[in-house]
Amino acid sequence: MIERNRIWQPWFLATVLAVGFGIVWATAMVWCLSMVAERSHSLRLIRRPVVRADGAVILECFMSNCYMNRHFETLDGKRADVHRRDPMMDGTWLVSEKESPEMPWFYFWDRRAKPVSEQRATRWYIIHDGQKNGKAYFVGYDLKDCQCIGYLGRNGFQLTEPAPEDQFAIRLREAVYSSVICSGDEFRWRRNDDFEEIHDQAPAGSRIPPWMIYLISGDQLVTVNLRARTVKVVRELPNMITVGGVEPLKKKSKEKGKRWTTVDNRDLLAVRTDQAVVVLDPQGREVRRFPIPKSLQTRDFQFYQVDPTTALIQTARALYHQGGEKYRFVWLNNQGDIQREELCRLPSYSFMNNAKVEPWIAGAMIPVPILYTPGVLTILPSRYVESGEAADPSGAVGTVLADLWPLLLLINASGVVLAWLCYRRQKRYAQPWTWVWVGFVLLFGLPAFVGYLFHRRWPAEAACPACEATVPRDREACFACGEEFPTPAPTGVEIFA
Ligand SMILES: [Zn+2]
Repeated sequence: MIERNRIWQPWFLATVLAVGFGIVWATAMVWCLSMVAERSHSLRLIRRPVVRADGAVILECFMSNCYMNRHFETLDGKRADVHRRDPMMDGTWLVSEKESPEMPWFYFWDRRAKPVSEQRATRWYIIHDGQKNGKAYFVGYDLKDCQCIGYLGRNGFQLTEPAPEDQFAIRLREAVYSSVICSGDEFRWRRNDDFEEIHDQAPAGSRIPPWMIYLISGDQLVTVNLRARTVKVVRELPNMITVGGVEPLKKKSKEKGKRWTTVDNRDLLAVRTDQAVVVLDPQGREVRRFPIPKSLQTRDFQFYQVDPTTALIQTARALYHQGGEKYRFVWLNNQGDIQREELCRLPSYSFMNNAKVEPWIAGAMIPVPILYTPGVLTILPSRYVESGEAADPSGAVGTVLADLWPLLLLINASGVVLAWLCYRRQKRYAQPWTWVWVGFVLLFGLPAFVGYLFHRRWPAEAACPACEATVPRDREACFACGEEFPTPAPTGVEIFA
């Protein structure tokens, strides 16, 4: 007897199989496509903007397999007069409040616990509670015997874990710890000069040693000295968002054989508030301040100090429809007035993140009509709006359809074809719940079809002695003519209870 009323159990089994197959399929696709990407990538011409120490923006151009043979172009594509050894500036990445939404999912331990010191004998970690507007403290370990040395909280050093009210108020964001800098990795440009070897010695002048941490805790900029195990508030400023290290100023040298000299040898900090970028010295004294123009206040940007009265701000925005990235460079004075502005659009040099390729990759990975179709019709229009390429999402739907109709057709047609195969199989084996299965395959495509095929054993088929049709023999009567199948002749090995 066939149990005609039970669909949930086989359907659940088929769904589990479909999900499993879907994951394997997507993984295999990512793997194959990344192999393709790697091959094609090695032959690409990469052009990316770099900022020379005098604040000029130029394009660094090289084949992706040969960085040594790079040359430089101006933003309008002419050859730039730049020496390969001219110093380029590392911008300070200062996120805004708006553009980095908190991650909606759980913060894993690798994000909540971060090593912060480079000292030889001890290792300090910052431990965050994982809450959006959460708390954090430092814990130190002796590297020799692996014993806990103690903790650092708002009240300084202590031997027990600081109570929540004594911890630092640190907001987690997408760029986790964008409000904490460890001078060891923040002052990257030092690595090329004399600073590499002196982790255990105090640097001369007003340079920030690697055991100093700066962090924003509420309205306070706090410095934590991991060596002296002290905590000090160096500055109070309202609405601080991010802090970063600023590269020292350089200028073209008149000396022979030396092209550039460092003007300002101090380590400086850039603190971004909702209104301005404030440049501070290690003691928290304001050195200079650049008000942020309105149009940049909600944008994440790279900040470059060009000279004492000029700053350069760079924003980048992916162009999802046209492809590539749009860069905006704004030079401003210390009154916040825009002095000059340049725009440039560069092709994306990643194969995978190419806007023209991405929907196809997603389609190959997730050939599921019910997920893919509404997915591209909502995600892409909202991205076009985000990148400024469309005014409103509903208007962008037409653009998406015009661009991607072959792909949408392909994925939905695959669902129809597989649903037809499913229908035929249902009829061939005279199985119940045909429309449930057909609908399942129609909506969920290839993974659902695989789940359907493998969720059960299919009955053996044989010709019916009465009507000669090929029919499944998992029942007592032929489904085509209704005749009962004859009982097989006894062979003598049957057991009668
Ligand atoms: Zn029959």
